[in-house]
Amino acid sequence: MGEKGRLLSVSDLRVHFAGKKSGVMGKPQPIQVVNGLSFDLFRGETLGLVGESGCGKTTLGRALIRLGHPVVTGKIEFEGQEISAIGNREFRSLRKEMQMIFQDPFGSLNPRLTVGQMLGEVLQVHGIARGEAARKRIEELLDVVGLNREYVSRYPHQFSGGQRQRIGIARAIAVNPKFIICDEPVSALDVSIQSQIINLLKDLQRDLGLTYLFIAHDLSVVEYISDRVAVMYLGKIVEIAESGELYANPQHPYTKALLSAIPNPEFGAKKERILLTGDLPGPLNMPSGCSFHPRCPVATAECSHREPKLQEHNNNGHQVSCLLYE
Ligand code: SF4
Repeated sequence: MGEKGRLLSVSDLRVHFAGKKSGVMGKPQPIQVVNGLSFDLFRGETLGLVGESGCGKTTLGRALIRLGHPVVTGKIEFEGQEISAIGNREFRSLRKEMQMIFQDPFGSLNPRLTVGQMLGEVLQVHGIARGEAARKRIEELLDVVGLNREYVSRYPHQFSGGQRQRIGIARAIAVNPKFIICDEPVSALDVSIQSQIINLLKDLQRDLGLTYLFIAHDLSVVEYISDRVAVMYLGKIVEIAESGELYANPQHPYTKALLSAIPNPEFGAKKERILLTGDLPGPLNMPSGCSFHPRCPVATAECSHREPKLQEHNNNGHQVSCLLYE
């Protein structure tokens, strides 16, 4: 996929929040959540982003579309335009191209608005349709996401979890975006409903030419939906490859440990589980050298003082950040 196919390009992205002051005279310690992260996203693809909770996945997704108030440095380009350098006003006009689907659709839906009112408001605010045209568009949106048109006058609390996620998806696609960040969109749903929502997202991607950043901690779900997968650890990408390649041939010890925890569907098939010791360190006590070294089962003395770089080793786009491969 060449330059032309690139939709989003992120270089050396760092995201931090202002921490608490230490003592009366002390300065607030910044809490670094994303630590120099670079990747490209190509038109029409799904890039899966996996890692333990607390690794910075959601913060990354939110920073890309300026949700919340973190301090963001580095470069973000969208369709060749450096959006990290533009003001909030200019960014607002671009914002409809980039939407987000949340893990908890209930929390992101206004409980006092019916589905019709909520979608109507979105269409009106973005100057897409109003009046009769909006009513027709809302009916189309409900059809597309598999909801009965009669639900238009229902409130969020009258829907099941899966139906609410369909409403969240309808709201995201209402403005004809190019890029959607799916932040754990099925984690809170029953397994049978998960596959329906994933298949809906796949169908919409095919029909509308959407590009997804799919954030999740469930590696089986990510494998099913993603073209490429990036593995995150403590605010950095430690491995990225095409989905089939990453699952068949993981290189980084952290990826190997994550994959070893997926239950094997073949009855009786044995898989050796790699258990990681210790908890994920917090952003205030980042380990030196390779940040994975305190938990890495194959760490050497060098790992505690030399930081590996994310590098390609086989000319197949598979990149890994580990001193064992340098
Ligand atoms: Fe483990 Fe060392 Fe590789 Fe880090 S650099 S993943 S500590 S072997």
